[in-house]
Amino acid sequence: MSNYISSDKKLGILGGGQLGKMLIQAASKWDITICVLDPNPECSCAPYAHEFTVGKFSDYEAVLNFGRTVDVITIEIENVNTDALRKLQEEGKIVHPSPEVIDTIKDKGRQKTFYRDNELSTSDFKILNAKDDVLSKINSGDITLPFVQKLCREGYDGRGVVVIKSEGDLENLLEGETIIEPLVDIDKEISVILSRNESGEINVFPPVEMEFNPEANLVEMLLAPARIDENFASKAMDLGKQVIQSLNLVGVMAVEMFLTKKGEILINETAPRPHNSGHQTIEANESSQYEQHLRAILIFPLGSVDQKSPAIMINVLGSKGFEGKVDYKEVNEVLKMKGSHLHLYGKKETRPFRKMGHITICGNDIDDLIEKGNHLKKVFRVEAK
Ligand code: ADP
Repeated sequence: MSNYISSDKKLGILGGGQLGKMLIQAASKWDITICVLDPNPECSCAPYAHEFTVGKFSDYEAVLNFGRTVDVITIEIENVNTDALRKLQEEGKIVHPSPEVIDTIKDKGRQKTFYRDNELSTSDFKILNAKDDVLSKINSGDITLPFVQKLCREGYDGRGVVVIKSEGDLENLLEGETIIEPLVDIDKEISVILSRNESGEINVFPPVEMEFNPEANLVEMLLAPARIDENFASKAMDLGKQVIQSLNLVGVMAVEMFLTKKGEILINETAPRPHNSGHQTIEANESSQYEQHLRAILIFPLGSVDQKSPAIMINVLGSKGFEGKVDYKEVNEVLKMKGSHLHLYGKKETRPFRKMGHITICGNDIDDLIEKGNHLKKVFRVEAK
């Protein structure tokens, strides 16, 4: 039996953003003690963690010292110091996901190489060290337009990704180590969230469909379950299982995939932690992705991932043209809507497209939910004071 309930044992989270906050909310139901490390004393987790430490999760000493004060360590962001995590493991601490998994995933080049080595379906790619190498491969005909260039490290939410369709776009090429992939003819973008415990048991949430804002490259609306045929859904869930098994990951992970117009399923990328595409599981599924993560890493039985009703999720993003102290407009429009659930992350400052919160709407008819979501996107705004 897990002995993390009402006990002196502590779970430490590296990163204090919204994913950490929702993990704390799940943990507090079961009286589990959570400690958080983040450099920003005003981050989303700071007011809610039992113990909050100001420090960089990318710094060796900061992670080591923090990790020594807890029993189990997990992450809510990949960009953490894995050497310190390895040292903590040597000292007997439990670390999920493992430092090896984090190292494989946080570098897009290594991540793609992992899929290729394990025969997991993904698009073709090349790893290149600098912008000049990309240009010379274009000149020699080894790379042909159109293509997508992605920074190997530290890109997120579409930052660090450029689409090169014509010669005129070449001025947007990114400097540094990058991967180059052909531009995929995408029919739908879906995500599969899974949890796996130490005995290798796996639970898979039904795939969800993601609609992206083309300007910000961020998820604008998420539909759960995805509107895809059962055959595709079960293939996607199987592919997700192969990924989590090959990585030998313990905890929750999200596998983002492309359904192509040709009918293939390609892995785009993986996150070794709870993910934006699983927020709606808090209200729409029997056990949320956050709860599943705690169950998996703290040795509780995995919960049921059955979906109770269809749902959509919209990210609440900072409105364009506003920067500074946040001022939410028309909150009551959200609160009065049947089936809606508002989550605000507590970020003090807004800026265009910053993820400030999300709204999940549950109901029976997906078209009705989409209409409600579009209505809220228009009326509920994130401005600055
Ligand atoms: P991030 O890590 O910033 O989320 P992704 O690799 O997921 O970056 O890319 C962001 C978005 O860019 C994807 O969700 C997709 O819409 C688009 N994209 C990425 N790779 C490709 C590709 N090879 N072909 C077409 N579109 C792509």
